[in-house]
Amino acid sequence: MVLPEEFFSCKKCDDGIRREEGETPVPGDGSSHAKIMLIGESAGAEEMKRGKPFQGKAGENLNEFLSMIGLERKDIYISNTTRCRPYNTKEKILKNGTVKVTKSNRPPGKQEILTCASWLDYEIEKLVPSLIITLGSVPLKRITGQSTISAVHGSLLNTPIQYFDVNNNKFMFSTREFHVFPLYHPASIIYRRELKEVFVEDLNKLKNVLTQLQINPSV
Ligand code: SF4
Repeated sequence: MVLPEEFFSCKKCDDGIRREEGETPVPGDGSSHAKIMLIGESAGAEEMKRGKPFQGKAGENLNEFLSMIGLERKDIYISNTTRCRPYNTKEKILKNGTVKVTKSNRPPGKQEILTCASWLDYEIEKLVPSLIITLGSVPLKRITGQSTISAVHGSLLNTPIQYFDVNNNKFMFSTREFHVFPLYHPASIIYRRELKEVFVEDLNKLKNVLTQLQINPSV
């Protein structure tokens, strides 16, 4: 799916203003006919470099989990809540007196999520996915308003979803309901090994949901 031209030069929030020279916001990736839409948190360093969501280690993890339920990247449309890398910086003075700056990822702020919302809304409106899978608590809250992932992960929600209303300058709920399936973020498993079993159980539930909703991604 092609986002409007102005997307690629967007600097509407601080995370965009802090982009490296030559980088653009990261658009969603996949077929505009995909029935499944997967929404992550934000672009990271690899994603900014390559201009695609879920690259590097995060991408490898995701591909591995998708293959466990018979899905491939080509079967889904994959996107993020915000499109420019949110990061903190740390400065260290080296022995030779030079300053080394390191960047570490952080979750996007409330303001960035709000400011970036129209791009995700655009993709959802064009795609009209049969199923939205949220990865982690950031996209879950953005899409459903629900902030407790531990209460809803691995379950199918039939729910209105949030979109940014320009006139009211805030999130509003859609009139139609969507199927939303919340999962933990695959990267959280790297830091919290105890979640791996839960994540795999949720994937099996997701497989059943695909059958229940008669979603055959390759058709
Ligand atoms: S994060 Fe979103 S709103 Fe902010 S500059 Fe990037 S594309 Fe624009």
